Amino acid sequence: MKYAILSKGDSKSNALMHKMKNYMNDFKMIEDTIAPEVVISVGGDGTLLQAFHTYSHRLDEVSFVGVHTGHLGFYADWLPHEVEKLIIALNNDPMQKIEYPLLEVIVNYETGRPTRYLALNEATVKTNNGATLVADLDIRHTLFERFRGDGLCISTPSGSTAYNKALGGALIHPSLDAMQITEIASINNRVFRTVGSPLVLPKHHTCHIKPVTSGPLQLTFDHVTSDHRNVTSIQCRVADEKIRFARFRPFPFWKRVHDSFIASSVDT
Ligand code: NAP
Repeated sequence: MKYAILSKGDSKSNALMHKMKNYMNDFKMIEDTIAPEVVISVGGDGTLLQAFHTYSHRLDEVSFVGVHTGHLGFYADWLPHEVEKLIIALNNDPMQKIEYPLLEVIVNYETGRPTRYLALNEATVKTNNGATLVADLDIRHTLFERFRGDGLCISTPSGSTAYNKALGGALIHPSLDAMQITEIASINNRVFRTVGSPLVLPKHHTCHIKPVTSGPLQLTFDHVTSDHRNVTSIQCRVADEKIRFARFRPFPFWKRVHDSFIASSVDT
């Protein structure tokens, strides 16, 4: 089996990565950073996001596995003391593959070619200087609202536990092919009005965010931030591609939600 392994870069994650490499060599697994079948991230959910963006051009060929060197994560669901068990399972057990939906974003400009991005957690749209974002939100090519505020967040179901949650969005089970639009500090008064509630859109619905005021935008795709000039529209929809995770044991989404957000506070 050909594998690639990425570390968060801290000493604990690096040490665990080297231990895993030695163990995988014993199993005659071959390290191949160009064409791996399995991509292992060692660190946290953020490290898995980096692994996803490194191999997003090979989603059909790759299964991801996340090892967490801190607390248990949503994508990184193996702990350091379990890595031997994980490597034995990778070699001996039938690999169940769990697929999660992704977000496709196409950014259109006044001139030049559109650019396509994929996000595992979310994309956000803000201005690049902290000024109020004024943008029309179209759903299925029909104006839904004129948004004024800090920005908009468009998340995947598995990203719903990340930034989306902090914005008051709903938690969505990753078996649902959907995307969620949440507001980031919208301006609402007698003159300006937005819906105020998160919107959950199905796979066949596309939304367009069309900036009304000129000026550069700051867009994020997971942990990646970039400035974009002369944007005419940002098209978002559920991507045709999916990310695949290698699963060797049940780890239900709602249990992860419980363990991450409820259990620790009850236990302390
Ligand atoms: P970071 O700012 O270093 O960490 C963000 C935190 O989000 C980390 O604790 C990370 O977990 C956690 N996280 C990542 N994906 C998650 C998921 N799907 N469900 C639950 N928690 C998740 O940035 P980063 O590590 O590069 O991650 C980028 C992500 O940060 C973005 O995609 C966005 O979702 C999130 N973010 C959140 C807020 C907020 O909550 N106010 C603001 C900006 C960005 P680990 O510790 O396991 O890595």
